[in-house]
Order: sequence, then structure tokens, then C-alpha cells
Amino acid sequence: MPFRTRYTGLIAKYRDRLPVSDDARPISLGEGNTPLIRLNNIPKDLGCDVDLYVKYEGLNPTGSFKDRGMTMAVTRALEEGSQAIICASTGNTSASAAAYAARAGMKAFVLIPDGKIAMGKLAQAIMHGAEVLQIAGNFDAGMRIVKDMADHAPVTIVNSINPYRLQGQKTAAFEIVEELERAPDYHCLPVGNAGNITAHWIGYCEAAGRRSDHLTDACSFCHGQCRYASAIVGDRPTMVGYQASGSAPFLRGEMVEDPDTVATAIRIGHPQSWDYAWKASQESGGWFDECSDEEILEAQRWLAAREGVFCEPASAASVAGAMRDIRNGKIPEGSTVVCTLTGHGLKDPDIAIQQSANAISTIPAELDAVRSAILDRL
Ligand SMILES: *Cc1c(COP(=O)(O)O)cnc(C)c1O
Repeated sequence: MPFRTRYTGLIAKYRDRLPVSDDARPISLGEGNTPLIRLNNIPKDLGCDVDLYVKYEGLNPTGSFKDRGMTMAVTRALEEGSQAIICASTGNTSASAAAYAARAGMKAFVLIPDGKIAMGKLAQAIMHGAEVLQIAGNFDAGMRIVKDMADHAPVTIVNSINPYRLQGQKTAAFEIVEELERAPDYHCLPVGNAGNITAHWIGYCEAAGRRSDHLTDACSFCHGQCRYASAIVGDRPTMVGYQASGSAPFLRGEMVEDPDTVATAIRIGHPQSWDYAWKASQESGGWFDECSDEEILEAQRWLAAREGVFCEPASAASVAGAMRDIRNGKIPEGSTVVCTLTGHGLKDPDIAIQQSANAISTIPAELDAVRSAILDRL
């Protein structure tokens, strides 16, 4: 029996559609190729006839979609002879940067906010040997410092302002259209720095064989020619971005100075891809909306308990918002909807346990006690 070709990461798979030079040596951990899971129970619970999928990006090597961008950014940094990378991070970018730097034999400096970083993410950065610098300030403060640092120290920035990050992240859209053999009608994402919604729009445009008329800077590699476009499908989806209410600059129409939400990965008041994301949203006919922390945590529990899919709180914002817009008809019956689940639930065990501490009962270590506990609960 013939062997199937081994999957070795998204640069190997999409090399002809990515700005990677012929002699670049890809730094990969096998990122991408994540499952697109069709939800069976939640649409029934909602009483709505929609084809609802989640793209489970939590199954990337370090547990978030950041790996798609990081394989590109680190491959490029190494090729350019850089010895160190740096990022500001709410957690997942630092975990990913640390892992890919380790793989490449480079040093990683990560600036994290004081407090409000999920334990799993911090553990990853430390274990992968990053230099973790905690600053007395939030993500936006860290981002400002990192943007200046490139002029003062020989380090490559691997935040999503690095254009190679968005190029890597666009491949999620390629995978979705390949699997569905069409573009979804709606694509819903949580929005923090707004790089991912931008990257998805670039990817969907290219998969439809065209370029975005408005994102010509963001996909600057194409120089207006869009040499990465290859018409696989005819349509592009409507892009919908959801923010946490306490951290929702796209809803307020201006930057937010003191963002706050339980969804720490999107606790960002000054999105770096502000202009791009507005353009992607408008060009696709989409919209932004906000979800309360309660809605986000409820959607996280529903996904875990009703579908067996555990994502981190920020990720659940996409499903929380989509469920609301499906119920209220903004997303019409009969639609095909994809929600990105950006990160794995194990990243942030504290939030999960805080919410469900009373789900655990203590009983005697005896057969009778266990038997009656079972019979009571069946
Ligand atoms: C980074 C991140 C986001 C936000 O993505 P942006 O590109 O900054 O909008 C959302 N969820 C998780 C889990 C993340 O790590």
C-alpha cells in the first residue's frame, strides 16, 4: 500500500503561495492542518438550521493559531541572519515565539503584562527558554516598547506587525476552502490586535483568485499583482469580528485606554491592525460586535460540555457572537458558518476551574457511596 505524503507544516504545503525564498530552510513544528469540526449539538440547541463549523486552532503545536504566523516570521528572521526575536504578548505569541526560537537556535525575548497572563502560556515561554520580561504595564504598553526596540537592539519583531505573520496566518483560510470545497458564507473570529481577521481576508481573497482592493499594504508582497492568488473557489465570506465588551475599540470607534476582560488573549485596547481590519470588514460586507464576559464563558462551557471541544475564553467569543447573530437572524438560516477557535482550553485552566469548582462532589472511598452517586445522577 502506498504511503501518504507526510505533513511537514504549512510552509512545505503552501510554499508557492507564500513569500519564502527558494533557499530558505523552514523552521516548522508541523503547524497548520487543524481540524474543521462540524458542530452537531449547538445548532440543535439553538433550534436553527445552520451549518456551523469550528476551526480548532488550539491543536497547533503550541496550542494557538500564532504558530501559523510564527513559522513564517522565524524562518524569515533566521534567513536574514537575525540572532534574536522579540514580541509583546498577552501570552500565546510569547509561547509560540519561544518554541520556534528554540527550534531555530535563536534567542527569544518576550514582554508580558504584569498579571493577567494565563498560566499555561507562561509555563510554555519559560520551558522553551525564552527571556521573559514582565513589565509594569499592559499589552499595549509592551507593544509600544517593542516597536521602538528594533531601532535600538539587533532583534526582529515577531508581533503581527511583522508582515510575514499575516502571510502564515492566511493559510487557515486556504485549509477551510479546500475542505468545504467552497468559501463559508460567514467567518467569525475573536478580535484583539486584529491581525488574524486581516490575514483570513487576505487568504480568502487569494483563494478566490483575486486580491483585496483595500489591503494592498497588508499583502505588500504581491505588489498589486497578487502572484499568490489561485482561484480555488468563487466566493469570499462575510467577515465578522467579535470583541469582549471591556476591550472593544472597534465597537467604540476609538482606542480603549484601560481594556479589561476575562478573555486575556483579546485584552487589547490599541489594535495594531486597526485600519486593515476595518477595510477587511467593509470589503467583505461584515461587521464587528461585542460579547460580555458572561456570554464568552457560557459559550466556552457549551462548546466543552455539548461538543467536546475545549477552547480558551478569547476563542469562545467567536461562537458566543455567532450564536447570538444566528438566533437574531443577522446570520440567516441555511448559512455555512465557520468560527475560529484561536487557542486551546488548557492554556487557561484557572478560569475553567474557578467556574466549575462546584462540579466536583466529595464522597467516601466506598463502593456503596460511589454506586449511589452514580444512580442519583443517571
Ligand atoms: C492572539 C489571539 C487572539 C487575537 O488575535 P488578533 O490577531 O490579535 O486579533 C485571539 N485569541 C487567542 C487565543 C489569541 O492567542
